[in-house]
Amino acid sequence: MGRDWVEAWLLLAAERIHDRRDWLTDLDAAIGDGDHGINLDRGFRAVADALAAGQWSSLGAAGMLRATGTLLLGTVGGASGALYGRAFQRAGRALAEPAPEPAAIGGGDPCDPVDPADTLDGDDGLDGATRALDAAIEAIAQLGHSRPGEKTMLDALVPAGAALAVAPPGRRAEGIRKAAAAAAAGAEATIPLLALKGRASYLGPRSIGHMDPGAASSALLLGALADRVTDAGESAGD
Ligand code: ADP
Ligand code: MG
Repeated sequence: MGRDWVEAWLLLAAERIHDRRDWLTDLDAAIGDGDHGINLDRGFRAVADALAAGQWSSLGAAGMLRATGTLLLGTVGGASGALYGRAFQRAGRALAEPAPEPAAIGGGDPCDPVDPADTLDGDDGLDGATRALDAAIEAIAQLGHSRPGEKTMLDALVPAGAALAVAPPGRRAEGIRKAAAAAAAGAEATIPLLALKGRASYLGPRSIGHMDPGAASSALLLGALADRVTDAGESAGD
């Protein structure tokens, strides 16, 4: 189920990015160079194609996230290609690492872990999802030298991570829906912000009054995650 859930999410994400491609591109045209939707659509289409061709059929949830990152790095381009690529790679690596407690026996190289296909199940998957999202956020912050409040994708992802962190155990679907709602609100809240990172920052005060395209695409990705976890029947009883 862990891997099926991730696969279903990636496919829905590719569909949503494709449907909203022009909207994302228009957002980027307003405060950037107008390529965000086109670039992300190209990357997620490559992901959907790899899945459809069965190229990742031997991979578990963690391996698929890492493979997605590598493919996005090679196909998207621009700032978001590097940032999302590294974020997915690091999320996959975090998912494959054993949970911090109880003490892991045997260790192993966290850089080349065995793919535990069911890592997202276990305790209902909330722990795994939280670790993966936290690792993605850390990767973006590190690579982008950025933090929330600077009108970037972090303004959607960080509130989502905070919402997931306080989700009650055993309520995965509810936690992820709250995270997606927090990401959507975070993306909306970038509108009045002054851009301090990336291309939009070159505009100075003229960046105010527009939604950040990266925050918008991050909210789309988390919205697809929430819809898949619900569709998969995980919400039954919660
Ligand atoms: P480019 O600006 O190279 O054309 P994209 O248009 O694909 O790249 O992506 C732009 C998005 O990338 C921005 O909307 C922002 O969310 C994100 N971004 C850019 N620079 C940074 C950064 N340093 N840290 C975090 N996110 C960033
Ligand atoms: Mg751009």
